[in-house]
Amino acid sequence: MESVSLPCPSQERVRMAGLTTFQVGGEARYVLEPRDEAELSAALAWAHAGGLSVFAMGRGSNLVVSDTGFDGAIVRLGPGFSGTEWTNTVVTAKAGTRLSELVLQAVGKGLGGMEKLAGIPGSVGGAVILNAGAYGQEFSDHLVGVRALAPNGEVRDWPRDQCDFAYRHSIFRDNGHLVVSATLELVEGDLDSLRQSVRETQKARLDKQPLDLPNAGSLFKRPPGGYASKMVEEAGLKGFRVGAAAISEKHAGFAVNLGGATASDVWNLSCEVIRRVREFNGVTLEREVVFLGDFPAT
Ligand SMILES: Cc1cc2nc3c(=O)[nH]c(=O)nc-3n(C[C@H](O)[C@H](O)[C@H](O)COP(=O)(O)OP(=O)(O)OC[C@H]3O[C@@H](n4cnc5c(N)ncnc54)[C@H](O)[C@@H]3O)c2cc1C
Repeated sequence: MESVSLPCPSQERVRMAGLTTFQVGGEARYVLEPRDEAELSAALAWAHAGGLSVFAMGRGSNLVVSDTGFDGAIVRLGPGFSGTEWTNTVVTAKAGTRLSELVLQAVGKGLGGMEKLAGIPGSVGGAVILNAGAYGQEFSDHLVGVRALAPNGEVRDWPRDQCDFAYRHSIFRDNGHLVVSATLELVEGDLDSLRQSVRETQKARLDKQPLDLPNAGSLFKRPPGGYASKMVEEAGLKGFRVGAAAISEKHAGFAVNLGGATASDVWNLSCEVIRRVREFNGVTLEREVVFLGDFPAT
């Protein structure tokens, strides 16, 4: 790792394939990894002073960076920005905390409300931004508030009702704020049933999802009145391949990296699937995976 004179741990010219679960993508000019709010503010000030574009990421489990990379600063609120503070049923988790870790802590305390989110490989910050959800639960269900840093450097606490949560959406997707932490109030439950629920959820994921191949979760959002995976399968696209990216044979909602895929492969695959599903049933699928950098217009 090359070090630069920055107020936080950082790397230059980082291959994003190594920081994202799909394992594709070119170099980011900088990856800044602040460990606390002070370092985060200082890192942002440094990037802005240098005229660099800034992009926040967590654990890279819903992200594909283009093959030409990102000529700016990626602020990674990942492992270095982790930790939880509990007071009875209320928890504040830093943005980089593994969502699964938070779920397991809650379940271990006999607290329910997000046990179905076990196995989602993202961070708390990513779960806020995308309002991560599974098997009938959403991250926002028991959320009390979010602490976020505005592009002008101001830190603000957002009560839940101002966060505009909806299916895979929060206000922070649109307003450019970096999520610093989230506070949730969970509900007391039965320890054995919660543990059982986690085991069932994890088994369902293992049985149904292509966890043996690099992927970024669901490629598409659920369209109104249907399931993207069903539509992709009905359009005959299970196993459909562009380069080394393919629609999973196991679950048509997932794209997978068969080995050596490029970000262009994934993008072109998504474009062709959108085109063919539209041709098949008139529905235009919308990508759930976030694509960062240069990709051709669709
Ligand atoms: C095998 C697998 C299964 C999955 N299953 C599910 C599932 O069941 N349900 C579900 O909802 N998702 C699922 N996902 C997708 C993914 O794990 C979630 O969307 C997760 O919430 C993304 O978090 P992340 O930290 O990895 O975000 P990243 O991929 O790092 O970033 C995703 C987006 O969030 C933004 N972001 C991340 N952190 C911050 C922050 N602190 N401040 C501002 N912006 C930020 C980024 O800018 C980007 O736009 C799955 C993924 C995989 C690989």
